[in-house]
Amino acid sequence: MKTALVCGAGGFIGSHIVKRLKKEGYWVRGVDLKHTEFSETVADDFVISDLRDSVICRDVTDQPFDDVYQLAADMGGAEFVFTGDNDADIMHNSALINLNMIEACYQAGVKKIFYSSSACMYPEYNQMDPDNPKCSEDSAYPAAPDSEYGWEKLFSERLYLAFHRNYGMEVRIARFHNIFGPEGTWTDGREKAPAAFCRKVAEARNGSEIEMWGDGEQTRSFLYIDDCLDAVRALMESTFIGPVNIGSEDMVTINQLADIVMSIAGKNLAIKHIPGPLGVRGRNSDNNLIREKLGWEPKYTLKDGLAKTYPWIKEQVKQAGH
Ligand code: NAD
Repeated sequence: MKTALVCGAGGFIGSHIVKRLKKEGYWVRGVDLKHTEFSETVADDFVISDLRDSVICRDVTDQPFDDVYQLAADMGGAEFVFTGDNDADIMHNSALINLNMIEACYQAGVKKIFYSSSACMYPEYNQMDPDNPKCSEDSAYPAAPDSEYGWEKLFSERLYLAFHRNYGMEVRIARFHNIFGPEGTWTDGREKAPAAFCRKVAEARNGSEIEMWGDGEQTRSFLYIDDCLDAVRALMESTFIGPVNIGSEDMVTINQLADIVMSIAGKNLAIKHIPGPLGVRGRNSDNNLIREKLGWEPKYTLKDGLAKTYPWIKEQVKQAGH
């Protein structure tokens, strides 16, 4: 039986990866600071521990796993990443996790390790024009991410690549672009735009108003979780190391995102634009490389993905009595 370790298994993408690997017949150990919030984990073993501690990292890699997925990070949406208030924690905590995990995996003889980087590592100067952002993999340098979160991701990409170069470790690196779906954070200040708008729309009375940070003309693309899992597994099974974008090329403005959520909910709401943390002006995935190397394409449209996500968040809102 193949074995996998999922770091960050209590989080959004990690908990979905655990489910996928179990369906594929893996024996899976999950590690996280916390349990999964929205459903029982299906991992064979789940360790609650802090991966900033190198001793813990050595303990959880007590066998030469076939696959390790390193998703643990101190992260969140714009409110968490772009205000500057959490910069020290973001850099220190996530860098420590990556430094400790790659070394522990090397010592344990792990066969292959996946690292989840982010589109936030791309330079801000290529993402000023909302209609024409540039995020091809080869546009990463000269580096100029607009957040410390992006800088840490870039550092850690290079860390994994260095272990590959010097110690022959099999690494796979993906740059995720806004992944969303059911069982993701929706209300604690770390939620991203799709979950935030699903929550705001679910909470609002028809005909009332919801708030949006900025003018809503900034652009982004969003990838549904099932498509993300397909891409991660395809990358892991391939010989391609990356870094490679895993995202959607279906770019929308944030106003359009809100409109789609409203149409799914059947609500007509006014939008009140207020100041808030925004990030870059435009961002879109460039999937040329992943298409060429893995033949992967997203299957879900944004509307299809939101049609699966909105009812789940609506139910959370109801249960929470919002
Ligand atoms: P998430 O916050 O839901 O999951 C991260 C998990 O890591 C959390 O459960 C958290 O408790 C855990 N963690 C944090 N510090 C830890 C520590 N010291 N020890 C053990 N566990 C710790 O985030 P997610 O959306 O599932 O993202 C997973 C990964 O993908 C992250 O590395 C993130 O940076 C990256 N990523 C995500 C997106 C996205 O849109 N969701 C986009 C780009 C990159």
